Amino acid sequence: MGEFIRVNIDPERCLGAKECGKCIQVCPVNIFAPRGADCPHALDENEDECTLCDLCLAECETNAITIHKLYEE
Ligand code: SF4
Ligand code: SF4
Repeated sequence: MGEFIRVNIDPERCLGAKECGKCIQVCPVNIFAPRGADCPHALDENEDECTLCDLCLAECETNAITIHKLYEE
């Protein structure tokens, strides 16, 4: 996880990178990486680059993504 931001993807809700993959396409700082056809995962080393733009949240139709501001927790 990042030091300031943690991006979680719920595999129970995610449609998978093959069927959806929108988060991978929209994130401007490449936080989401495909894992074959399955649910993408967040790249630890990129998480702190998150700009909190919410593009991924807007695109994810199953609300599988949550973004945690570790500095506020
Ligand atoms: S946008 Fe949501 S449903 Fe689509 S691949 Fe990403 S996490 Fe899964
Ligand atoms: S909020 Fe923006 S920068 Fe952060 S993970 Fe989502 S798309 Fe990427």
